[in-house]
Amino acid sequence: MDYDVIVVGAGPGGVTAARAASLRGLRTLILEEHQEIGRPTHCTGKLTHHAFEEFALPPGIVVNAVSAAILYGPKGGKAFLRRRAVDSYIVDRDRFDQKLAETALEAGADLMTGARALGVRLVNDGMEVSGERNGRPFAIRGRIVVDAEGASPNLPLSLGYRLERRWVLGLQYQVEGATVESEDAPELYFGKDFAPGFFAWIMPLGGQRARVGLCVDPTYTAHKPVYYLERFIHEHPIARKKLKGIRVEHKLAGRIPILGARRPSFFPGMLLVGDAAAQVKATSGGGIYFAMVAGELAASAAARYVKGDRGALRDYERSWRRRFGREIWFTSLVRSILNQLSDEEIDAAIDLLSREEGLREALEVFGDTAYQSRVLVPVLLHSLRIGLRDRSLAWILSRFLLGFVRVWL
Ligand SMILES: Cc1cc2nc3c(=O)[nH]c(=O)nc-3n(C[C@H](O)[C@H](O)[C@H](O)COP(=O)(O)OP(=O)(O)OC[C@H]3O[C@@H](n4cnc5c(N)ncnc54)[C@H](O)[C@@H]3O)c2cc1C
Repeated sequence: MDYDVIVVGAGPGGVTAARAASLRGLRTLILEEHQEIGRPTHCTGKLTHHAFEEFALPPGIVVNAVSAAILYGPKGGKAFLRRRAVDSYIVDRDRFDQKLAETALEAGADLMTGARALGVRLVNDGMEVSGERNGRPFAIRGRIVVDAEGASPNLPLSLGYRLERRWVLGLQYQVEGATVESEDAPELYFGKDFAPGFFAWIMPLGGQRARVGLCVDPTYTAHKPVYYLERFIHEHPIARKKLKGIRVEHKLAGRIPILGARRPSFFPGMLLVGDAAAQVKATSGGGIYFAMVAGELAASAAARYVKGDRGALRDYERSWRRRFGREIWFTSLVRSILNQLSDEEIDAAIDLLSREEGLREALEVFGDTAYQSRVLVPVLLHSLRIGLRDRSLAWILSRFLLGFVRVWL
């Protein structure tokens, strides 16, 4: 065997796995199809404070810190939520990925850039990854493969496994000249006319710079994201005033796998990590942090597997589900319900949030973009308390319960 672990993909999931595997003494190789790590980038870069507390993240990657959020309803509803502490940091994804990769190399991992893995097959006591580098074929053998290819993994297919996936399509412009409401408050805009099946955002970067983007779910529209983003910038009744005269610095696009983290995230000789395993919150599309957590868990499973423990692969699946599986389940559920609500109903919910201080407080105190399910009990308890006297809340609650039953069935 050339290596113990071959990691395919140098995003946050793959690089974290490679670093952790190297630190465990495993001979580790990272294959990255692009010449430069982190480029082209495809992400807003909003990263939960948990990632900074749990991982040794390199300095010099943070652009802004956010502790609030402003929700805009399709018909003009607006709610402002503010937490007491920083919820997330905005990072430059290309720098973030590059610096993270340096930590994996420092730990001892090898890296091959410009190397695209095209297939994988089982060989005696291990795996062979074949691919192409600068127009030349290569084949490398390792005991185990960590597939961190991102949103559209190809390697499982080469082993004969077809993954069940549903994606939303994203597009984002980084702009200069935007007027944001508050420098620490991402603005989220809901509504089928501008972002069917998801939402649009203005992510403040400080000063007049911002990341303006949206995702759309192709289940609900045949139009491309660019159609909606241009409309959002030029026609949205609120956003267009804030974005008048902006200058676009650069653009990025990508897809996010939502509603797809069904079993399995492992195959013989291979573990799936990050977007490749659809370890993404279906409400917000955030996946960096969970990709990193899964990367660490995958490295630990790989170390056991290399020593001959065949149960380690199944244990990887169990361990990430124990760690954040509830969030995947909860956000998928909420996404499915949100997608069934009409614009009027979403507007009514946001309007209610702006009127009901107790409800807002429950979200502000227990809300955590990484662990969104933590709001469930406090919000439900508060909703039930006031639901009896607020007819519109009772109506929204019943819509959610109905959605819950429909999704569950
Ligand atoms: C528009 C948009 C905005 C987003 N905003 C956020 C956000 O603000 N916060 C957040 O947490 N998440 C966000 N996400 C999601 C986030 O980008 C992903 O969840 C995260 O990047 C997943 O990390 P990963 O390591 O699994 O995959 P990736 O970061 O996609 O990395 C995969 C790597 O594998 C390489 N690769 C792929 N196939 C091969 C192959 N066959 N051979 C070799 N190399 C290969 C790719 O080049 C890439 O470098 C956003 C996504 C999009 C599309």
